[in-house]
Amino acid sequence: MHQVVIIGSGCAGNTAAIYAARASLSPLVISGHEPGGQLSLTTEVENFPGFPEGIQGPQLVENMKQQAIRFGAEYRDGKVEEADLSKRPFRLRIEDEWIETRTLIIASGASARWLGLPNEQKLIGHGVSSCATCDGFFYKEKKIMVIGGGDSAMEEATFLTKFGSEVSIVHRRDEFRASKIMLDRAKANPKIKWLTHTVVEDILDVEKGYVTGVKLKNVKSGETWEQDVDGFFLAIGHIPNTKPFAGQIELDDEGYIISKGGARTNIHGVFHAGDVQDRVYRQAITASGAGCMAAIEAERLLEGEEH
Ligand code: NAP
Repeated sequence: MHQVVIIGSGCAGNTAAIYAARASLSPLVISGHEPGGQLSLTTEVENFPGFPEGIQGPQLVENMKQQAIRFGAEYRDGKVEEADLSKRPFRLRIEDEWIETRTLIIASGASARWLGLPNEQKLIGHGVSSCATCDGFFYKEKKIMVIGGGDSAMEEATFLTKFGSEVSIVHRRDEFRASKIMLDRAKANPKIKWLTHTVVEDILDVEKGYVTGVKLKNVKSGETWEQDVDGFFLAIGHIPNTKPFAGQIELDDEGYIISKGGARTNIHGVFHAGDVQDRVYRQAITASGAGCMAAIEAERLLEGEEH
């Protein structure tokens, strides 16, 4: 039986692993369906303290993992399909195998949201993407569209101007959630075109098997039109990965874990860390801080039970 199992290998999970490993708890980290979490899908990280010149997101998260391994953390591929948190030890199913643990840290993050358009899923990997860093390279001198009005949309659009001949940002309002610095940076980029009060009605062309354009609608005027596009990038937020815990861990309306203070959930011995609970800050550094808190709480609980 494990002392600590950590679900998720982003900043939160890796930092929890560093702390739990240094406390000699030999944590097991279940890497999850997006190993490395959101940082593995990003480029330059300029705001993680300690890197005055910035660092690439995938490198930062890999460094954290190696740091945890150095102190005895074990990593296992796969994701948790099912969880029984009704009593301790907790039981988790990973593929066909059940494992047991005395404490659990849920750091499973939040995954990209899709628009739910008729052709969207059919064209994923053929022009539709949720990861500019992964797929931007394929759109050199092509027409690119980014959907969303938050920091992700600004960051991805700015990054994609390195590749595309033009990048259009499509946003359903004319006010932006993005922080001022990110919005200003995108606004100052002459390659970026803006389509506000605009929604995507569909993506073309499933018959051809790749993206050739989109159907757009101005929600104010009702005008609809088609526009040529080669690369279609979603940046419309995320959905917390809490499905296996629904009905056991208390979740809010959108599925985020409700914190009971510190890193505690409603279940004694189960802790949260990172974006799976945090819908406000969602930064690499806050996720790391939360991972540290969760590991310390798990360690204290286990230590208290020894005496
Ligand atoms: P977000 O802030 O939640 O923004 C999502 C955007 O997508 C919003 O503009 C929203 O429009 C739009 N949207 C959502 N559902 C939609 C739909 N069905 N159809 C059309 N548009 C839709 O998400 P995010 O940009 O991914 O950012 C998440 C968090 O990460 C934020 O706290 C952000 O600051 C942080 N972040 C930071 C950085 C950085 O500092 N480098 C980079 C990326 C993200 P409405 O505004 O109309 O709701």
